[in-house]
Amino acid sequence: MSKELDFKAEIVGVYGTPISDNPTGVMFEFAFKSLDINWRYLTLEVSEQNLKNAIDAIRALNFKGVNLTIPHKVAAMKYLDRISPDAEVIGAVNTIRHKNGKLIGENTDGKGFLKSLIDNGKVSPKNQNIVVLGAGGAARAITTELALAGAKQITVVNRTVTRGEELVDRLNKYTKTQAVFSHWHPNYAIPSDTTILVQATSIGLYPNIYEYPQINYESLKSSTVVCDVIPNPPNTKFLIKAKKRGCHTLDGLGMLVNQGVIAFEMWTGHEAPRSVMHEALTKVFKV
Ligand code: NDP
Repeated sequence: MSKELDFKAEIVGVYGTPISDNPTGVMFEFAFKSLDINWRYLTLEVSEQNLKNAIDAIRALNFKGVNLTIPHKVAAMKYLDRISPDAEVIGAVNTIRHKNGKLIGENTDGKGFLKSLIDNGKVSPKNQNIVVLGAGGAARAITTELALAGAKQITVVNRTVTRGEELVDRLNKYTKTQAVFSHWHPNYAIPSDTTILVQATSIGLYPNIYEYPQINYESLKSSTVVCDVIPNPPNTKFLIKAKKRGCHTLDGLGMLVNQGVIAFEMWTGHEAPRSVMHEALTKVFKV
């Protein structure tokens, strides 16, 4: 059938609650338009009670896949046919692929981070000593990908001991990296052999843009690559402080775009228009 007479749109989207502040759809819609493909990205409010029905709907309505956000990343796993090995280690999925009637759970958050680190930071995690602030979903995804990519040591620094220790146990069990836990205190000094520092907490996220993690910034060496997961605003207080120490920095917008690029390519099979997607988000965030 000619393209002009094919009226069927392919559907992807995101399930979460709350969802109205999620900007991912903007990035995808711009990308579909720029490639002139008949795809739609729907931003859908899905309650915890309706998650199973919503996942069944992927099959019933023949969606190509969905992203998952708070609070569905863990709960969705039990409804899927298969979980990718890294999502299994992370213990959460943020992307579902619908392929040949099967629903496959993936996690692109950590992969998106890794791509930013390698492409924009010009550094491979292999044999590096890495410190990660936080032990939530983002930290779990990032540390897993860093470990699978050959990081020598990962120090997880977290306020809540049980959460930090659980992540470290998981990394030591499933990967070859040496993971250690450090309890967060406001004057935490970054170990002098740290080559990569990742801020993976929610501190500094809009509207709390003047907040930054309490660490000893004097301990930060200019040779350390410093990364933040916060996409909004991209230029966080944390990154501003790191820049003042002379560090090369990476913002969370790059990670957000990259995880979207990975999902885009998984779903559509087309090469994603990365710069279009990045520009769409910079417009949303007015940066
Ligand atoms: P979680 O709620 O799972 O984890 C939050 C983490 O932040 C925990 O480790 C928590 O510590 C820590 N934390 C929060 N407030 C404080 C504080 N005041 N002092 C010390 N520690 C604190 O959230 P996620 O991991 O899912 O998300 C974290 C951030 O990552 C969000 O801002 C999100 O926007 C961003 N993100 C960015 C992505 C991107 O593509 N750029 C992708 C995914 C997430 P504790 O365990 O002690 O509570």
